[in-house]
Amino acid sequence: MMNIILMGLPGAGKGTQADQIKVNYPIPHISTGDMFRAAIKNETPLGKEAKSYIDKGQLVPDSVTIGLVEERLNQEDAKEGFLLDGFPRTVEQAEALDQILAKTNRKIDKVLNIDVDPAILLPRLTGRRICKQCGTTYHLIFNPTKVEGVCDKDGGELYQRSDDNEETVANRLEVNIKQTKPLLDFYSQKEDVVENINGDQDIKVVFKDVQNILDKLK
Ligand SMILES: [Zn+2]
Repeated sequence: MMNIILMGLPGAGKGTQADQIKVNYPIPHISTGDMFRAAIKNETPLGKEAKSYIDKGQLVPDSVTIGLVEERLNQEDAKEGFLLDGFPRTVEQAEALDQILAKTNRKIDKVLNIDVDPAILLPRLTGRRICKQCGTTYHLIFNPTKVEGVCDKDGGELYQRSDDNEETVANRLEVNIKQTKPLLDFYSQKEDVVENINGDQDIKVVFKDVQNILDKLK
């Protein structure tokens, strides 16, 4: 069985690794965002309930989210395994997940934690720059302009979106670290479940590490 949870801070490369896992292993990638969108689009009872909260600008209660996860995990394609992304976020949700899986004699096999020093993440997450004239997006590290601060296409001035500024990003990271810690503690109490993967390596090397872990589960 390959029942996997994928964890990692924003900018740690979780999305890239999820894509690679999806391509190389026959398990569905289940992200809470996609799950919500699908349930709302298909107008399932839980989807309708979730929508009623979202429309009011309220937080979707845990009972609804957990119900959606249970429905999804009981679908045919998740029987041999799944990759959960964005769930659980709290220890309460993790406990509920254990109960859901226990009903069908399943358990979480691995928690893959893509581990990157937050100090390295800050420049990655604050590097985006956008052209004021044409809206082209650049990145100081990953996709820099030829001349600093000036759009390659039209010479327009570049700006930084307010949610990309250092203070906002640092704050977002801190919230994430605080949220993740108790979850990792929870799964660390289970034997051989948490795998910390060094995310500060080439993407391909990170995926090799992921493969080494997943191939043992087959
Ligand atoms: Zn431009």
